[in-house]
Amino acid sequence: MNPEILNKFPKSFYVPDGILNQLQLKLLSDLSCNGYEIILSGNSSVTIPKIDDITKEKMKEAGFLDLPHMENKVFYAQTCLSKPYCPMSRQDARNLSKKINKNFYGINTPAKVKVSISGCPNGCSEPLVRDIGLMGYPTGYTLTAGGFAGRNGGIGETIAVDLNEEQVIEKLKKLFFVYKGYANEKERFYKFLRRVDLGFIKEKMESAE
Ligand code: SF4
Repeated sequence: MNPEILNKFPKSFYVPDGILNQLQLKLLSDLSCNGYEIILSGNSSVTIPKIDDITKEKMKEAGFLDLPHMENKVFYAQTCLSKPYCPMSRQDARNLSKKINKNFYGINTPAKVKVSISGCPNGCSEPLVRDIGLMGYPTGYTLTAGGFAGRNGGIGETIAVDLNEEQVIEKLKKLFFVYKGYANEKERFYKFLRRVDLGFIKEKMESAE
């Protein structure tokens, strides 16, 4: 590590699907041996507080996803352990997260949007306090929106129940369409929902059908 070429800010990377492969583990091990601090920083990400450009490129080459500035974008969807690892799982949250990331990760929105999916109603990934939450039940997913874990937080409101994966994607397309069309700039989803109310959002989603 050359302290003269270190970037000023810490850098975070997503671990795709939260599963580290051999190459990634070896790189992290090599970096650690060379004096880099590696921090597990939540939502399937690792953060390197002191990093240089060459190491950034090595991280990307190893398959870590660059975490861009996300103030007005959809974040990488977070999941719990889910199928096939958790016996409680009623739906395959990992599979759904791949589809959601493919369709929505990084799209522009009025403010940042955090998405969390759990394979069962235990909600280990805390979907009820995310902008978009999905909880797996035996009959499908329940979709909630407007949860927030901050100082003025609260749980999300139910948008729809018993959704299969394709129906989740369709509902999210409409939900983002309404959010982008009617929210103010920088208005987080929970504030938007409290301002316009759930009925308005559902009505606009229906008319988008
Ligand atoms: S939310 Fe349910 S499926 Fe997911 S890890 Fe927790 S218990 Fe398992």
